[in-house]
Amino acid sequence: MAGEPQADCLFCKIVAGEVPATIVRETETTVAFRDINPQAPTHVLVIPKTHYPNAASLAAAEPQVIADILGESREVAAAEQIEDTGYRVVFNTGAGAGQTVFHAHLHVLGGRGLQWPPG
Ligand code: 5GP
Ligand code: ZN
Repeated sequence: MAGEPQADCLFCKIVAGEVPATIVRETETTVAFRDINPQAPTHVLVIPKTHYPNAASLAAAEPQVIADILGESREVAAAEQIEDTGYRVVFNTGAGAGQTVFHAHLHVLGGRGLQWPPG
């Protein structure tokens, strides 16, 4: 059932504490942890505790949780002191856009200059 933990999902395992991660923030609905392969000095992933394969399906089913994730990205940026220098939030959606983990997650990237448009 949508939203239920998936046995074969890496990020569900991080939510459950079955796979270790460097968690920086946690709320009732979200977890934020450092990306294992950071692409910038700050690279944090904010994920819903519930399982949806991408941001679009999460937004359709639980719009408040998408709002929670965006709110948490702001808290991460403040804690990492990247609000003034600028940061980027990204939902890669689909393999063609670089999505490799099919549990919705928001990348929070900052701490260096970021090019636009992205690759
Ligand atoms: P995507 O490519 O799906 O948008 O992002 C998935 C992200 O998850 C990648 O940036 C990747 O480095 C990160 N990632 C993959 N496996 C792990 C893991 O086991 N732990 C953590 N902390 N991050 C991971
Ligand atoms: Zn999952």
